[in-house]
Amino acid sequence: MTPAGTDRGAGRFAPSPSGDLHIGNIRSGLLSYVRARQTGRRFLWRIEDLDRVRAGSAESQLAVFAELGVAPDERPLIQSQRQEIYARALRGLDEAGLVYECYCSRKDIAQAPSAPHAPPGAYPGTCRDLGEDERAEQRRRLERKGRQPALRLRADNREHQIDDVLLGRVSALVDDLVLRRGDGVFAYNLTVVVDDAASGVDEVVRGDDLASSAPRQAYLAGLLRAPAPGWVHVPLVLNTEGRRLAKRDGAVTYQQLSAQGWTRADVFAWMQRSLGLQDVGSEWRDIDDMIAGVDFDRIARGPTVFEPPVQE
Ligand code: GLU
Repeated sequence: MTPAGTDRGAGRFAPSPSGDLHIGNIRSGLLSYVRARQTGRRFLWRIEDLDRVRAGSAESQLAVFAELGVAPDERPLIQSQRQEIYARALRGLDEAGLVYECYCSRKDIAQAPSAPHAPPGAYPGTCRDLGEDERAEQRRRLERKGRQPALRLRADNREHQIDDVLLGRVSALVDDLVLRRGDGVFAYNLTVVVDDAASGVDEVVRGDDLASSAPRQAYLAGLLRAPAPGWVHVPLVLNTEGRRLAKRDGAVTYQQLSAQGWTRADVFAWMQRSLGLQDVGSEWRDIDDMIAGVDFDRIARGPTVFEPPVQE
């Protein structure tokens, strides 16, 4: 794989176009942009539309960022247009003997005894070493149900580590993760690694709910002979019950907050408070204030609670 534009690195924001972004997603995206501007990287946008797509969402997410003063430096990458590229990466792994078919259902995996020391949910390796006869039979069994096997990575099933600017060292066991799902959709872990490498993304800024995926993505990058990026996993925004903020929590999207009277400046002032930077300099009113004001060494490391304004 030849990464493009590596002379000047890049950061990116890669939201799934499944609906309007809430203030927490917006904060992660803005931080990714700020970091790119502060470090002289290009800022890229990727539309992760292989799954859970709502018509018009990608456009409306981009429009909100445009309104907040943020535009990607290049035309967004659209995953649904890149099937051939994912297929090629998968073929390369297959030729290296690193791919196998998996016939397990979710239930099979949940019920199988797990390997010693494996974290809950790790693939127990049921289909890893099946003989050809058994594979043929399993294939026929799925075919009768109108399904096809998933494709999994033959990983080394060891702990891998990455170093994160905010979290320090993050370790996780890398199991035989899915590369292509049983419904034929290329899996998130494959597409994210292929796309980041192809776009020259050398630093990933995103929500820390994905931090535990970073070691497996770095491992997969190594197998694809792509350089692993650096990582900055930023804290999430939670609801008043301490759970990840969600649409059902009330007015949480930019559109809803605008309808409640929030201005652009209110959004940036909230960004400043939520990052624990309200005492540094004057109040932020726009993206330039945020670029000047964010200090990644000083931002609040813990999650922030967002209390939506009461809907009128
Ligand atoms: N599309 C993923 C999401 O919206 C983010 C992927 C990533 O940043 O690696 O959660």
